[in-house]
Formats: sequence, C-alpha cells, structure tokens
Amino acid sequence: MIPRTLFDDGHENLRETVRRFIAKEIAPHYSTWEKDGVVSREVWLAAGEAGLLCTWVPTAYGGAGADFLYSIVIAEELGRSGYTGVGFSLHSDIVAPYLLHYGSEEQKQQWLPRLVAGEVITAVAMSEPAAGSDLQGMKTRARRDGDEYVINGQKTFISNGQLADLVVLACKTDPDAGGKGISQILIERGMPGFERGRNLEKVGYHAQDTSELFFSDCRVPMANLLGVEGQGFVQMVQQLPQERLMIAVRSAVVMEAALQWTTAYVNEREVFGRSLANFQNTRFKLAELKTKAAVTRAFVDVCITQHLSGDLDAIDAAMAKLHSTETLCEVLDDCVQLHGGYGYMWEFPIARAWADDRMSRIAGGTSEIMKEIIGRTMVESS
Ligand SMILES: Cc1cc2nc3c(=O)[nH]c(=O)nc-3n(C[C@H](O)[C@H](O)[C@H](O)COP(=O)(O)OP(=O)(O)OC[C@H]3O[C@@H](n4cnc5c(N)ncnc54)[C@H](O)[C@@H]3O)c2cc1C
Repeated sequence: MIPRTLFDDGHENLRETVRRFIAKEIAPHYSTWEKDGVVSREVWLAAGEAGLLCTWVPTAYGGAGADFLYSIVIAEELGRSGYTGVGFSLHSDIVAPYLLHYGSEEQKQQWLPRLVAGEVITAVAMSEPAAGSDLQGMKTRARRDGDEYVINGQKTFISNGQLADLVVLACKTDPDAGGKGISQILIERGMPGFERGRNLEKVGYHAQDTSELFFSDCRVPMANLLGVEGQGFVQMVQQLPQERLMIAVRSAVVMEAALQWTTAYVNEREVFGRSLANFQNTRFKLAELKTKAAVTRAFVDVCITQHLSGDLDAIDAAMAKLHSTETLCEVLDDCVQLHGGYGYMWEFPIARAWADDRMSRIAGGTSEIMKEIIGRTMVESS
C-alpha cells in the first residue's frame, strides 16, 4: 500500500494506546455486551479516563485541544478491531461538535467536560418512523409555553439510545416553515415526558443500543435550545460532512482489516489438497480487493486533509461516503465468499463485519441521498 503521510509520532503513540485500551477494556467483555445489546457504562468512564473521548475539545472545556487526526486514529483503531458496538465516535465526533459549535457558553461549560470524561453519554435524534431521508418531513413538534418547550413526537433508530444521558433532538418549532422551522433542543435523561422505547434488534451492531425515543408533553426549559431557533436544519447540514467523513474513515479501515483477515485465511486453508491461496481465482480476487482498498484509502486520506484545512465540502464528503461504503460492502461480500462456511459464522470477524457494515450504506444518509447531493450540482434544474 502507498505509505500514509498524515500522522506524526504523537498520533502513532495514541494508536498504540487505543490498541491497548481495546485489548484490556473492550475485547474481554464484547461477547457479553453483544448478548446484552449494549456496552457498559464503565467502558465509557474508562475511555474518558484514558483520554479517548472528544480529544479535539478545547482545554477550556476539559478536552485535550488535539487536532482532529487524533479522533481519526481512535475511529480507525476501533474500526480495525471489529468492536462496532462502542459508540465513541458518534459521541466525540458527531454529537459533541453540535455543542461546541452551537452551544451557549453555559451549555458548553455544563456539558463538554462531562462528555470528555465519559460521565455523560450522548446521542443525536433526527430520524423518525416516517422521516429518515426526508428530514424536513419530521413530525416531532416543540411548542413554546412560557419559558418552556412542550415536545411531542417520536424518534427511531437512535444510536446510543438506551445509554444516552443527553440527546440532541431535531424537531419542528414552526411546522409551517419547512426546513426553516426545524430546531435542535437538548434533552436530558429523566426529563418528565421523555421515555425510551425498545432497544431495537438489528442485523448487526449487536452491542450497540439503537432505540426508539418517545416525547409526550415533555417540558424542556427554553435554555436547552441549541443554537438559534429555526436554524436546526442548517446546523445539521453544516455538520453532516464530518459525520460522512467519519463513516468513510471507518469504511476504509474495515476494508483493509477484511483484506488482512482474508489473506491470512486463504493462506491457511487447504482445499483439494492445496492452499486456497494457490488458486488463480483467489489471487485475482485478492488483487481486486487490494486495489479497491488502496483506491478508497487514497481518496479518503485526501478528504481527511481537506477536512483538516476546513475545505471539505458537502459534495466531496458525500462522494467519500458513497464510494467507501458501497466498495466496503462489495469487498466484505467477496471476503465472506473466500472464507466459505466459516465466513458466515459469527465468531469470525469477517462475518461480523459483513453484518455490521451493511448499515453504512443506509445510516448517515443513504447512498441514494449521496447521489442526489452529488448529482444535483452537475445538472441544470428544470
Ligand atoms: C444502525 C442504524 C443506526 C442509526 N443511527 C441513527 C442515529 O443515531 N440518529 C438518527 O437520527 N438516525 C439514525 N439512523 C437512521 C438513518 O439515518 C436512516 O435510517 C436513514 O437516513 C434512512 O432513512 P429511512 O430509514 O427512513 O429510509 P427512507 O428514507 O424511507 O429510505 C428508503 C429508501 O428510499 C430511498 N430514498 C429516499 N429518498 C430518496 C430520494 N430522494 N431519491 C432516491 N431514493 C430515495 C433511500 O435511499 C432508501 O433506499 C440509524 C440507522 C441505522 C440502520
């Protein structure tokens, strides 16, 4: 593979720390968490203690003020490990930025240090049973009543949904204003009228708590508005490129891991009295997979560089997500095939990755929505 030039010794040292953390704090517990459908709170506190959450948050709010590559390293090592249930990246790189970029000084002081410590676990709630891709069609409503909002509605598919202590909720504050009527409001664990529904049974990501959330006359102080009323949709659009880049980062690294697992497997496995690796079909397949992984890596690393300089636009982020997730699913499917029946067994990391990463083409905006974002800039509207 072409050597990567993004990282310095500090990043590589962190990579080692993350690997040790995974071996000590995640691997021994993972099959229990998969059965439970949720990871422990202790692993969040341990991650906070080890300085692995929200590393980029400024020191004024308890973070390390590190460059964003530190977040990338953590996401890469978690991706490579195959332990998908641990929702650190969602918390650190998708939810925390909403607080830092749009929160009031008081909100930042109140929440960010606790996010960094892993004492408060976060989620972002946009999707509803009848509105996922079409976010402007969301029905959850926040009505003003004195100095409170009264919230009614329902969200679904919310990652970290059972554990979350703080939820960035997208809802309509003005139902007649389309996208301009959407706002983001901070919902705290225990607020009256806020209930969690089922921890949803998924095809993969078995240790990840993905949940329904219900709001029934949930009264929230207006001080919990995040950013400006009516700007919620704009705020989400501004943050989605980073979310999509992180999905691409994960996809690129899982592709490389899958290739490693599969190369080792075909070299070990004997069929018809010789190594599976010695069949031309195997070599051709491995060559195709390696090429796909290398091309994806090159584009994703360019997008990381663009993001670091603040130049990653929505279209490049959409291309990174579209290409990396679609390619990942092709690669994983071929890797399962090369493993034969073992590739379908949960104890094999390739089986888990195949099931887990199918969602990458759906969550964070589907592939079709990515194509819309890219394609509409290429044609004149009629
Ligand atoms: C494991 C998992 C975790 C998730 N975590 C979260 C979370 O933490 N927070 C959150 O808010 N959401 C989360 N989601 C929800 C996710 O973002 C949505 O599932 C996704 O946006 C798609 O919405 P939908 O499921 O309603 O599908 P739909 O929007 O109903 O789409 C159905 C099909 O129609 C296609 N389609 C839709 N619109 C168009 C169009 N304009 N042109 C062409 N085709 C179109 C889609 O591409 C798809 O193929 C999660 C989902 C999963 C599976």
